[in-house]
Amino acid sequence: MSVSDEFHFFPCLPPELRRMVWRFCLPSRVCEIDAPYDQCAFEENHVYGPPCELQTSTLQNSRPPVITRVCHESRAVAFETGCQLNASYGHGAPDGFEYRRAITTWFDPSRDVIHLNWTPIYEVEFFGCYTGEPLALLAWYAARFDLRPSFMCASIGKFEHLNPDQISALKQRPNWLVVMRTIIVHCDYKSARESGLFGLLGDARIQIVDVADQARVRAYIDFAEKMELESTDAPRRDIPRDYQSFSQQSTSLMERDLRERMINSCGKKVAEELPAIRPAMMFRYCPMMCNHTGSQRLKVREMERKSRLPVRGRGRGRGVQ
Ligand SMILES: [Zn+2]
Repeated sequence: MSVSDEFHFFPCLPPELRRMVWRFCLPSRVCEIDAPYDQCAFEENHVYGPPCELQTSTLQNSRPPVITRVCHESRAVAFETGCQLNASYGHGAPDGFEYRRAITTWFDPSRDVIHLNWTPIYEVEFFGCYTGEPLALLAWYAARFDLRPSFMCASIGKFEHLNPDQISALKQRPNWLVVMRTIIVHCDYKSARESGLFGLLGDARIQIVDVADQARVRAYIDFAEKMELESTDAPRRDIPRDYQSFSQQSTSLMERDLRERMINSCGKKVAEELPAIRPAMMFRYCPMMCNHTGSQRLKVREMERKSRLPVRGRGRGRGVQ
């Protein structure tokens, strides 16, 4: 047997090689600040309601990576660069940037990006316990770990104007991403993992992609549409099949939209002085099949609806075949 044909059992490999393999298995995630709000994430789908309630993808995305639950060695590798952000994280930051995290979240600054779901009309983690500017907190996180931050487009444009503190926060980082569209990928875990789009082990449930990376955006949209059409659960009868739009907007169109929003938010002169702010899309893998008849959410709703039905009178409906 030649050297190249030999099969090496994983436990027999040198420790440094094993650790390289474990590191290769770690996900590159979007670490979320504040809870996502479906009404803000899906501006275009209000007719039929949001296609997903978003909590499932947030909760699953916040859990430690899969390899933290394999063995002692893999867990140690994950904790070399990752940690759990709990309710007290952020204390000690300058200018009293303290807020209360709603859930404990895994964060690996060596491979993750940081994203702010907060919008002026909806907040969870900042409510009642934070008096500062959420965008400034995001800028602080990004500066501390040298990350490219992102936030929701609902924070700017149509009805919202940037205040001086927010403009100052934007100037603190050289590059920003603004999530212009969110697409939900409703599918089972095996499909998500095999697609390779949500991490090698399917534990990077949220991804944000600059729209300039058209090939990558196309790959996510195609997969989302394929999973929607191939679902074994029937789609809800009261919504159309193309409920979630899977069309890919041109990069120039989204750049123009963002530019107009920024000008509406702070005026042309200020907008031109800001650092690079790029449009992006968010893709969230949710296994709950929220918009299909077999979804847990709809099953609960159906049970609630039935529990409210009036009790049939004695003999009513009897004898009818
Ligand atoms: Zn969902």
